Amino acid sequence: MSSATLSPALKQATPVVVDHAKGSWIHGTDGIDYLDFTTGIGVTSTGHCHPKVVTAAQEQCGKIIHAQYTTVMHKPLLELTDKLGEHLPAGLDSVFYANSGSEAVEASVRLARMATERPNIVVFQGGFHGRTVAAATLTTAGTKFSAGFSPLMGGVHMAPFPYAYRYGWDEATAVAFALRELDYLFASRVAPNDTAAFLIEPVLGDGGYLPTPPAFLAGLRERADKHGIILILDEVQAGVGRTGKFWGHQHSEGLIPDILITAKGIASGFPISAIAAPTSLMAKAWPGSQGGTYGGNAVAAAAGVATLQVIAEENLVENARIRGDQMLRGLSELAPKFPQIGDVRGLGLMAGIEFIDGDGKPDAVAAAAVQQAAIPEKLLTLTCGPMGNVVRLIPALVVTEEEMATGLNRFEAALTAALG
Ligand code: PMP
Repeated sequence: MSSATLSPALKQATPVVVDHAKGSWIHGTDGIDYLDFTTGIGVTSTGHCHPKVVTAAQEQCGKIIHAQYTTVMHKPLLELTDKLGEHLPAGLDSVFYANSGSEAVEASVRLARMATERPNIVVFQGGFHGRTVAAATLTTAGTKFSAGFSPLMGGVHMAPFPYAYRYGWDEATAVAFALRELDYLFASRVAPNDTAAFLIEPVLGDGGYLPTPPAFLAGLRERADKHGIILILDEVQAGVGRTGKFWGHQHSEGLIPDILITAKGIASGFPISAIAAPTSLMAKAWPGSQGGTYGGNAVAAAAGVATLQVIAEENLVENARIRGDQMLRGLSELAPKFPQIGDVRGLGLMAGIEFIDGDGKPDAVAAAAVQQAAIPEKLLTLTCGPMGNVVRLIPALVVTEEEMATGLNRFEAALTAALG
């Protein structure tokens, strides 16, 4: 007999052990009901254990659990593809499924390289794209995601992100700077004709909850068109209604990506991810070049179908917009009471609160103290940002007005407890 424990490589943000959960609430084995403003890092879009998602998954379990999609096709995946198609940007009519965000990110890079026969991928500072070695290479949201296991994948180059608050500029100046630096990268180090893709999130997630300015995305689109570069939008965290539009990039009017990546919120907690692209582009990956044992799992796909139904029936994209406004308004009212809050920003139900010290420098200690102080206030939150100085709030799309008000009150109590 031997005993095992969980790896110390897992870093727990809270000591909570879940007994059960429902909607916006997690009931711990400590008997406490916590308001969950983490949603499993932006995953449980329809809330925990939405009855329609639970039923769909249970019913699918009785039919077939694992119908390996390169061996036999199954109905839930065909249905999910139909339903997802109703939301995909014009022309992105072909979908490939995997399990996690990281895998889908890798699939998009594989496709972009195969399609263009070019090696380089340009990413933007603070982007988070996953934990596998290739996805970690593409990630610049913190050295903790890639330090210590080099060599990483080749051909990845980082350009600045228009982080207006950090530079102390207005948005237009930050965008002009970041586009100028991108052009300089093209002139100095990475030839555009050797560049397969730009990879960017519509809202930086783990990198600090920073909405990507529409003018920056438009600048990328323009350069992508000019040089035959593929624009990949990583909607893993910002997609599926979270920002108050179905996709985060829809805040940039008229913007169409070449490849869109989705995961997380698409199936309310069941592991499934996808990339979507025009068939003409997708066809440049030869048959068999993408695949996987569990990708597009039948139970996860059934949960995905139910998730999209619930989002439509319960008007959850609109709810995300309205409750998101409530959240940002509430946080903006709190901010002046605490000099340690340097910036409050977000889009829909993605809010970032950036903490600074007396010299205006990033203050990770304050952010961690607030996140920890929220736990006894029965509010679960997470930190993020390369400097660790941002607290992020990611409620479920089903969050009610009252729950949001409770969350804001509890957050204020945590700020007071941690910062005085
Ligand atoms: N892209 C983005 C934008 C993400 O937020 C994440 C996860 N936080 C990933 C990719 C990676 O997804 P996964 O953890 O499912 O591999």
